[in-house]
Amino acid sequence: MTTLKRGSRGAEVKTLQSKLNLMADGIFGPLTEEAVKEFQKSKGLKADGIVGAQTWAALGVARNTRKIDEIILHCTATPEGEEFSNAQIKASHLARGFSDIGYHYVIGLNGEVRPGRAEAIAGAHCTGHNTRSIGVCYVGGCPKRTTPNWQMAGKDTRTPAQRAALVKIVKELRGRYPGATVHGHNEFANKACPSFKVKEWLTEVGIKQ
Ligand SMILES: [Zn+2]
Repeated sequence: MTTLKRGSRGAEVKTLQSKLNLMADGIFGPLTEEAVKEFQKSKGLKADGIVGAQTWAALGVARNTRKIDEIILHCTATPEGEEFSNAQIKASHLARGFSDIGYHYVIGLNGEVRPGRAEAIAGAHCTGHNTRSIGVCYVGGCPKRTTPNWQMAGKDTRTPAQRAALVKIVKELRGRYPGATVHGHNEFANKACPSFKVKEWLTEVGIKQ
């Protein structure tokens, strides 16, 4: 995790805000700063409103010492047009024996980026690649529930808001992990996930790797 202060923006700010039970809009404004100072005071830390290593540690979020060189994209493999919450994803991952939600970020139908497990912790989303990667998942990836055998067919169901959010988070992550390459889960496993061609999409949105 990087050092955050008033004016910071992005996914790590959302993680911070969700830890402080604030609305996670990803913008470190005066309310977030106030909440950080309160939290620091309650922990006997210097109440400067700046979230550095000590404050992250006090929040239970370790500084990321992993070397990240891949960003891997997924879908929830749920029907088109149906929301799927982080709690639902977590429950299905716990049922599969994971210790927590497997992804680092989940993008809801409305484009909201929802923090999953902390970036400092290896994910559980792509066998053989978890220690070196960040996992980002959008909700959807299968046809509508009324389609026969909808579970069996992959479909790119990304809403315009999800597409925009995906570009934003991938760019942000590559800013923080320079040189990290972007992949679909299907490049590493015999799966349809994320139900779109990542390489073609990267070209389309102008992300070079
Ligand atoms: Zn996947």
